[in-house]
Order: sequence, then C-alpha cells, then structure tokens
Amino acid sequence: MENNVRQIVLQYFPPENIASVIIKDERVVVTLQNIAEDTKTTNALKEELLKLDNVSRVNIIFTAAKAAPALQQQPEMWRVRGVKKIYAVASGKGGVGKSTTAVNLALALSALGQRVALFDADIYGPSIPTMLGYEKQPAVSLDGKTFEPFSALGLKSMSIGSLIDRDTPIIWRGPKACGAIEQLLTDVNWGETDIMVIDMPPGTGDIQISISQRLKLDGAVIVSTPQDIALIDAVKGVNMFHQVNVPILGIVENMSYYICPECGNRDEIFGHAGAAETADRLGVRFLGEIPLHYAIRAHSDDGKPIVIAEPDSPHAKAYMDIARKLL
Ligand code: ADP
Repeated sequence: MENNVRQIVLQYFPPENIASVIIKDERVVVTLQNIAEDTKTTNALKEELLKLDNVSRVNIIFTAAKAAPALQQQPEMWRVRGVKKIYAVASGKGGVGKSTTAVNLALALSALGQRVALFDADIYGPSIPTMLGYEKQPAVSLDGKTFEPFSALGLKSMSIGSLIDRDTPIIWRGPKACGAIEQLLTDVNWGETDIMVIDMPPGTGDIQISISQRLKLDGAVIVSTPQDIALIDAVKGVNMFHQVNVPILGIVENMSYYICPECGNRDEIFGHAGAAETADRLGVRFLGEIPLHYAIRAHSDDGKPIVIAEPDSPHAKAYMDIARKLL
C-alpha cells in the first residue's frame, strides 16, 4: 500500500519536491516542498490516490513554496555574543503548548547546571514575561546602545513583547519584526551563556525562516499535540528546519493524556502517540510526552512554571527527562 502510494505521487511530482508521504488509517498526507501550488496537478493526484482501496482522504500540503529561492542565498548572519548553543522550540501552529514547553525546558536545563537564556521570539503572543513573572517591565539600556536581559528564576531572558505594543502586533510582521528580533538578540548583554532557548513564533512563516537562516541554530525541538491536524502542521515545521539544515533534536507530544485528579483514570482526550508515530516516520527522535494537567497551566500563569513550583511532580520530571535528552 505504502509503495503504491509513493509510486503514484512520483508520477505527479519529482522526488526532490516530495518532502514526505504519510499514510495513517485511511488518510494520505503528501507534503511538497520548493514548488509552487498547482491545483490541476494536485486534483489529479488526489483523484488517483482516492481510487486506491483503503484511501478515503487525501491532503496535499505545500511548504516554503515561494521561499525556496531565498533559502539558497547566503543571508547575513546574526551574532549573539557570549552564547554557546542555541536551540529553537517550534510548533506548526499556535496553542499547542510551545511556550510552556520552552520555558519549562529552559528551567530544567538550568536545574541541570547549565547557564541558560530564554529568548521570546513569539511575536503573535509573547508569553514568556508572564510565565517568568517580569511582565510590564520595559527593556533597560544602561549605555544607550545595548539592552540588559531580564533575570528571572535563574534565567536570563528577553522578549519581543518588551518592544512591541501587544495590541498592534499585526504591523510588526515581516521585515520590521525581523529587525526587532535581530536587535533583541544581538544588542543584549547575554554574558556567558551555555544554552539559549528560543520560543519561536508558531508556524513556518518569514520570521521563522529568517531566524533559522540568520542564527546558527544548534537544533530545533518541535512541539505538537497528538491530533492529526496538529501533526500535519508539525510535519511542515520539521520540513522547514530540514530545508535550512537545522538539526531536529526531536518531537515533544504535549497535552498527551489527562489523569483525572479524582479517580486517577488516564484519558487520552486528543488521541495518543500520534507524535511518536510521526517522529518515527520522519526519522526524528521522539523526546517524550507531557500530560494535560491543570497545574502546568496554573503555575505558568502565576509566573512560576511547574519545573520550579513542583520540582518533584511527575510533570516536572517529564520536562527534566527531555532536558537530559537534549544535553
Ligand atoms: P503556544 O506557545 O503553542 O501558543 P502555550 O504554551 O501558550 O501555547 O499554551 C497555550 C495554553 O495551554 C496556555 O494557557 C498554557 O498554560 C496551556 N498549556 C500548555 N501546555 C499545557 C499542559 N501540558 N497542560 C495544561 N495546560 C497547558
């Protein structure tokens, strides 16, 4: 079945444009890269695949279609002084718990003895200041040229939220947002830092591509929920980093399951193990699963994420295990 599907896809698109072909249950997801959308060909391919027994749905996704020429140019690199390693935490779409994962992983890496900085590049919803409790403070410059990072819970941190007006983020898309992100990365006195964790904006737009191209990223962690649709987006994220030669450190499945505090029953609300299967198919590491739990949300909102607030809880330990794998 898998071979049949691949053969058919190859009749319509050349191998270099096929990023992945995923078959799950009766559904086929074909991800294409570096190629402009072409409705006529995709409709013909869909029709052909739907003729196969056991295929009832087909999704065809185009990634970075127009970005391809830009990816081949060598852009000017951003230099982040004092920082040894940079890891990006990314997701294909918003609301899957990327920022929650980024902040808890940064705190876990710090608890393991690393000097850690957490950079909030999520222009669509900068939430790190709230999670680390330095909200409402403007960025401070002592010499008028460089910014001082915020120090919170043992991390150095800086957020795009400290420069932009939360109510008007839309005007900061594109080059203006990239300029602000560059300034906050390169004009900050980070000091000696072993690892910088970057909370990326969700998705695979211009800002994400710029960060991936202009920073020497040492790796990317992809966060996904178990639902299919989030995974399709996660595949796009994986493909974007592959295209710019950033190593994928692995996939984290967030909101993986729910343990009822009353009866201890485990409920797999969004399905389960989708991320592990996707990681396997894409040939990337599955880093671990984090449950959906009230305490994870509540401590983040209180400015003291669970790794700090309840270090002995199983949830904090799950983040610590992932951090150990990253090291
Ligand atoms: P993203 O960065 O992907 O947009 P966030 O990290 O901001 O997502 O999370 C979205 C919401 O879900 C937040 O309110 C957060 O506290 C909550 N959340 C994230 N992960 C979990 C979890 N494992 N359990 C409970 N709530 C979570």
